[in-house]
Amino acid sequence: MATKKISSLRCPSCRTLVLKSDPYFPFCSERCRLIDLGKWASGGYVISTPINDPEMLESIAEEQAKEDSKESGSPKDRA
Ligand SMILES: [Zn+2]
Repeated sequence: MATKKISSLRCPSCRTLVLKSDPYFPFCSERCRLIDLGKWASGGYVISTPINDPEMLESIAEEQAKEDSKESGSPKDRA
């Protein structure tokens, strides 16, 4: 089995081919590194999180089911 060693990558900022030996790898230069960090810091990459979290909705449904069974669970106690 031949294993391919990655010796170069494209700069995430400007797509220039960067060698692994480069001090700023995987960026071609400090400038591009800072540009990319700046994108993260300024919210250039926005990871949108859905408000309707399925797990959260599930726990809400569970709570409501508990409340329902509390009210209509034992009619004997009421009489
Ligand atoms: Zn670059």
